Amino acid sequence: MRWRVSLASMGLFLLGFLLMADKGWAQPMPLYETKQVAQDVYLFRYKTHNSLFIVTPEGVIVNDPISLEAAPIALQEIRRITNQPVRFLIYSHHHFDHITGGRIFGPNVEIIAHQNGKARLEVLKNPNIPLPTITFEDRYVLLLGGRRIELIWAGISHSDNLILTYLPEEQLLFAVDLVANRRTGFTRMPDSYFPELFQALERMREIPFQTLVLGHGAPGGRDVLEAYIGYWKDLDTEVQRLMAEGMNTFPEGLERVLETAGIFKSPPSLQVPSSS
Ligand SMILES: [Zn+2]
Repeated sequence: MRWRVSLASMGLFLLGFLLMADKGWAQPMPLYETKQVAQDVYLFRYKTHNSLFIVTPEGVIVNDPISLEAAPIALQEIRRITNQPVRFLIYSHHHFDHITGGRIFGPNVEIIAHQNGKARLEVLKNPNIPLPTITFEDRYVLLLGGRRIELIWAGISHSDNLILTYLPEEQLLFAVDLVANRRTGFTRMPDSYFPELFQALERMREIPFQTLVLGHGAPGGRDVLEAYIGYWKDLDTEVQRLMAEGMNTFPEGLERVLETAGIFKSPPSLQVPSSS
């Protein structure tokens, strides 16, 4: 199984390069924005993080408060659209950069998370992250104001408690951190599990979504998922080939992968930690 460790490490390092190569990253953008992505469904972006809110005649559902700074602005944006109270808050997963600051929505909001996420938050005890009041194992259907929202556990993948939010009528899927649009992640992918993450992406294919809203970056369609799966498959194939050629040390293999991928011709001097 050693190659898997190496594959993950090499992939993670490569991710940083591709991220930096994304020209969109460097372009200035407003601090936040709200964009309608379906009838009564809005994407709220604060800096590089996205959340989703859904307006119904019986209240609002917020998927991810993001942060202490973002949540009050999200509420202000919701108030521009509706006076309905926020009734439900969904935590996509337990990572602090997506779910801090939910208290701003008031004490009567039901908070939904995966059961593993609640268990982790109970240990972490972040005072700015109120604990979930509703948890589930595989699937949870939320019905509010005539709208159906399906919460689907992605399985162990990015964290062990990631929830995909699916709106079947709109064929819209909100997926945080599991997949990215024209980005491959960060230099590190903390709390990600391989190869389970690949399997989670395959399972995502079975959801009949047409619109994909992401935790970071612009929304897209099914092609975003296919491109992402394709990236991992290419990387996996290339790393396995190099390993079969006898390359099992990280720096040497990494340089060859990057060269082969045409990302750079002469590798810069990199301080690459050896895989363990
Ligand atoms: Zn995360």
